[in-house]
Amino acid sequence: MHKVVIIGSGCAGLTAAIYAARANLSPLVLEGNEPGGQLSLTTHVENFPGFPDGILGPELIENMRKQAQKFGAHFKAGTVSEVDLTERPFKIMVGNEVLETKSLIVAAGASARLLGLKGEKELLGRGLSTCATCDGYFFRGKPIAVVGGGDSAMEEANFLSRYASKVYLIHRRNEFRASKIMIDRARANEKIEFVTPYVIEEILAPEGLVIRVRLRNTQTMTQREIALDGVFVAIGHDPNSIVFRGKLEMDKNGYLISHHGTLTGVPGVFIAGDVQDHRYRQAVTAAGSGCMAAIDAEKFLEEHKD
Ligand code: NAP
Repeated sequence: MHKVVIIGSGCAGLTAAIYAARANLSPLVLEGNEPGGQLSLTTHVENFPGFPDGILGPELIENMRKQAQKFGAHFKAGTVSEVDLTERPFKIMVGNEVLETKSLIVAAGASARLLGLKGEKELLGRGLSTCATCDGYFFRGKPIAVVGGGDSAMEEANFLSRYASKVYLIHRRNEFRASKIMIDRARANEKIEFVTPYVIEEILAPEGLVIRVRLRNTQTMTQREIALDGVFVAIGHDPNSIVFRGKLEMDKNGYLISHHGTLTGVPGVFIAGDVQDHRYRQAVTAAGSGCMAAIDAEKFLEEHKD
């Protein structure tokens, strides 16, 4: 029987683990299918307080993990397939194992979206990627595209320009969601060419490897093709909340809804990080809500001592 199980090992989950561990609750962190969460898929983090020269996302995550372990947090690989929150202790299914816990912190994060094109998933790892830091290195000296108009797309285009011979930044509108500083940086990068307003209609990979994209101008409907070796999709994320459908309150996009901080409709279940945040989605806000969830869980356990 666990006192606290934390679903998710990103910034929110690890911060919750640090706080819960320091409260002597020996939390168990379930790592999920993207251990370390989105920070582990990013490069330089320049806006996390305390690092005036920035820090690499994977390094920041590794530090948090070590910090949580130092105080007694435990880690378990695996993805949650089902939860039973109808009574305490809650039951969490991971693989063939059923874990029991007196309280639960859901910090399952959000995952990268794909474009929804036919055969797209089969091309992941064959020229299509959602992770510039993971795969950028494979495209040294080659032309590639980044799709999206937010900060992620700008950041990835800049990052990938270190490796690629050319980066086409494909976005469906002429306006961008990204912050001005990120757009200016991308525009100043001579390897990046903005291709707007275009959507990808088809990724051509006749022999299983991406060689070309066919684009459509969203205003004139004219088509255009670009020869390239890689496509990086950076069009946002979806919350990892499917196992909580019908069990915890969520909005129409699947983001969990919290009350009074990290509380849910189920006493003893708390939520933190991007799985409940479609507005701020920052490392520091995820960390903050992870801290809050751990404090709320600690308080809950104190008030519900058996
Ligand atoms: P985002 O801000 O939601 O932007 C997603 C982009 O993808 C939008 O431009 C959107 O186009 C486009 N898009 C969505 N679905 C599409 C589709 N099916 N086909 C083509 N384009 C599509 O997501 P994000 O860039 O991942 O950023 C998420 C949050 O993280 C933001 O708050 C951002 O500020 C933050 N962030 C910060 C940093 C940093 O500061 N270093 C780095 C990365 C992310 P429309 O605009 O037309 O809807």
